[in-house]
Amino acid sequence: MTNGRTSDIVVIGGGLIGTAVAFGLRERGLDTVLLDEGDVALRAARGNFGLVWLQSKGAGLREYTSWTRKAVDAWPGFASKLRDVTGIDVRYRRPGGYHLCLSDAERDKRAAMVARIRPGQPHDARTVMLERDELKARLPFIGPSVVGGSYNPLDGDCNSLALFRALHEAYSVRSGDYRPGQAVRRLLRGKGVYGAETAEGTWWAPKVVIAAGLGLVDLGRQIGVGPVVHPQQGQIIVTERVKPFLDVPISQIRQTPDGTLLVGDNSGGETYETPTSLSVMHHLANRAVRMIPELSDIRIVRSWVALRVLSKDGAPVYQEAPDWPGVFFFTAHSSVTLAPMHVTELSRWVADGAIDEEARAFSTARFS
Ligand SMILES: Cc1cc2nc3c(=O)[nH]c(=O)nc-3n(C[C@H](O)[C@H](O)[C@H](O)COP(=O)(O)OP(=O)(O)OC[C@H]3O[C@@H](n4cnc5c(N)ncnc54)[C@H](O)[C@@H]3O)c2cc1C
Repeated sequence: MTNGRTSDIVVIGGGLIGTAVAFGLRERGLDTVLLDEGDVALRAARGNFGLVWLQSKGAGLREYTSWTRKAVDAWPGFASKLRDVTGIDVRYRRPGGYHLCLSDAERDKRAAMVARIRPGQPHDARTVMLERDELKARLPFIGPSVVGGSYNPLDGDCNSLALFRALHEAYSVRSGDYRPGQAVRRLLRGKGVYGAETAEGTWWAPKVVIAAGLGLVDLGRQIGVGPVVHPQQGQIIVTERVKPFLDVPISQIRQTPDGTLLVGDNSGGETYETPTSLSVMHHLANRAVRMIPELSDIRIVRSWVALRVLSKDGAPVYQEAPDWPGVFFFTAHSSVTLAPMHVTELSRWVADGAIDEEARAFSTARFS
């Protein structure tokens, strides 16, 4: 054991949440060590769809709607700040976003969800259901199978790999201490400090942030917290580049500014396995072509499966461990969308040593 040191805060997990929080902590001038296990599997941070999405957030937890609204409002300033600090353009755009339905049953289900969220949504950012004719007027390329859909004017997307790179770069520009290849296997208690033990050493700090994605299952157990998250497979297919025609994101299909189309419209199994499936590809491609028939001539160039990090109700969990004061655990399925809040608010809570009263709704107490 040759490594390890004492700092103000140890952040475990260099994915989307951990890196955002670590950057925020460095912005506050705190001596921060960011430990990451490494790319042993396709992490959610590298395999997601890149939506910055409000329209479906909060069906089970109203506070999730307003939290996401704050994130969406913060996004333009956040994207320019990342560009100023790192020179990286994360290609954020907010043209509004759609979700398309291919049957009456899908449309009714969507309408019921939109109705559940509606009371929590501010007037200027309400998700609305649109009939086929209205959709066709706005998106002339949709096929005859589309029966309706939903729309929110504040939805958008970004290049999520650029976002991930920008967060790491911003942390580095702010002289953050990043240690890749450090899987934390044990959490230790010392006098007024906690230790994060890896094969190479132990990193000590009075405060620890666990932002380890699915790694929270094991680390949580060590601090007396039951399973908070579970995996869910998500497969995405990527096409060859074609002339840009889709300048608004649809939750199931988006086109990047360089012409690539991404299709991702499935909820796979609750397993840690990540093989791609031909039948899922077929299902995704088939639905995409029914939504936009022109896609039938476009070639698929690759596909991947990444694991969603889901809580029981799909909403974020932000909490200080009851029996380990100073140890915080953070997880959220929509951490592209919520990145600005993770940089500013989560880092402030950790710096202050307490989670804001208004964010207490995100504790695990809601599950009991
Ligand atoms: C298919 C798919 C599509 C998605 N689409 C969107 C989208 O459109 N919009 C959106 O907002 N979100 C989307 N997401 C969700 C988003 O990617 C996740 O919310 C986000 O990546 C979660 O961040 P995280 O830091 O909690 O986990 P991760 O990004 O998975 O990072 C966790 C990190 O912890 C590290 N780690 C784990 N255990 C340990 C340990 N013991 N010691 C040290 N390090 C450890 C891992 O190496 C990893 O780097 C999508 C996810 C998937 C899978």
